Amino acid sequence: MKTTVRFAPSPTGYLHIGGARTAIFNWLIAQKTGGSFLLRIEDTDLERSTEESVKQIQSSLNWLGIYWDNDPYFQSSKKERHVDIVEQLLESGHAYRCFCSKEELEEKKGTAIREKRNLFYDKTCRHLIQEQIDKKLSQNSPYVVRFKTPDGITSYNDLIHGQTNVRNDTIEDFIILRSDRTPIYQIAVVVDDHDMGVNLIMRGDDHISNTPKQIMIYNSLNWEIPRFAHIPLILGSDKVRLSKRHGAASIKEFQKQGILPDSLFNYLCLLGWSPGDDSEILNKTEILQKFAIEKINNRPAVFDYKKLLWMNSKYFSELPQQQIDRLAKEWLFKNNIELIDTENTPFNFLIKLQQQRATTVNDFLQSLWLFFKDPEKYDEKGIKKHFSKKGSDNLLNALLEEYLHQDDLYFQNIENLESDLRALAEKIGVSAAKIIHPLRLALTGKMASPGIFEIISILGKEKVIRRIKNAINYILVQNWGENSEA
Ligand code: GLU
Repeated sequence: MKTTVRFAPSPTGYLHIGGARTAIFNWLIAQKTGGSFLLRIEDTDLERSTEESVKQIQSSLNWLGIYWDNDPYFQSSKKERHVDIVEQLLESGHAYRCFCSKEELEEKKGTAIREKRNLFYDKTCRHLIQEQIDKKLSQNSPYVVRFKTPDGITSYNDLIHGQTNVRNDTIEDFIILRSDRTPIYQIAVVVDDHDMGVNLIMRGDDHISNTPKQIMIYNSLNWEIPRFAHIPLILGSDKVRLSKRHGAASIKEFQKQGILPDSLFNYLCLLGWSPGDDSEILNKTEILQKFAIEKINNRPAVFDYKKLLWMNSKYFSELPQQQIDRLAKEWLFKNNIELIDTENTPFNFLIKLQQQRATTVNDFLQSLWLFFKDPEKYDEKGIKKHFSKKGSDNLLNALLEEYLHQDDLYFQNIENLESDLRALAEKIGVSAAKIIHPLRLALTGKMASPGIFEIISILGKEKVIRRIKNAINYILVQNWGENSEA
């Protein structure tokens, strides 16, 4: 069945993970059924809604590869229509004017608390007779409009949570129009969804409590009730609702960190949905084939940043060569680095190696400095392990001796580099690792890097010699050298 769905963000901030996932799930259903995915901007809170936020939300959706059908629908522009429907409900007797003042309501609340009753509005104005209403109106008494919650039970079949029954007496006569004649969310949402032809409402779990109210409104207007699917929350690793406190929560932040849109899309789909087998890396087409609302879990999903990074590294390693080259070129340009030879082979080799190791775009670009900058500092743990023992300079000195005698060409042959280093280790009587670890620290400043012999070949004689010398100097300055006085 062609399904018309909508994503209805309030433009009061960035698009966050939860919203993006809701948008993705809706978009998938529209694509799958050949239906429509509509975007409704719920901008009725004029104080908090901003144009900037609308733009951010739209650009984040587009970045994820999500495009909506038709023009976005701005809720605030439909205010008159919402008020008209409220008038209609007043006329049909499904709603009533409530003239109770704030003070009166406070007083009623106080009494209810003292008498240990629930705090629902006591329906005083539901029972006003026409004469009383007319009098109040002629006196220009301010009023809100309340919906007349009917007796009975409201039932619906939530596509994720199953059959749901709510006793209507657990819902008070709720307000649908404020005294300044602005419509309340409950009415605006129903009217808009109806007018937009939405026949499936898929949204966050936090809207479950609104659903019976909205169904009551649909019923009172004799409008067809859409299907509902409420997606469980996303929690942080501490099992508390995901928020800024847990680190990045907005799509923009992930974008800034160098997460790829396709991997974020893939990861978000797996938050609460599973294809039913073990597969995890799924492109959009595969997700589209397998996606089904019935397979959305009815319990909250836990956001796992490490897993997202893992997934991102998979996607990053698969990026086409052209895209990687473009990233690197832009990076060179941005940093004012001119590579005389654009086909610079060692640098291109580094790009390839780092593509396979990087977790994010930023991580990848950062790793390219290896070619251009000698280490400014060394990894703390690395220093402790490989530089700080007395005589730590010995092995590096031995290697330096070897390398000083070699010509440039020698540094291009990875196999020779390896076998010679191993032979040297044997000659000295240590394992090759004993040389490789401090050497890696000397050349890269880090404990982990692509293969050390590949690194040597990429850097070439001049840089390798200079970096080894720098490391030896560092060790000597710290008084850890063979001949230093401890
Ligand atoms: N504007 C609401 C929100 O951002 C969504 C309303 C709805 O989906 O019904 O949470």
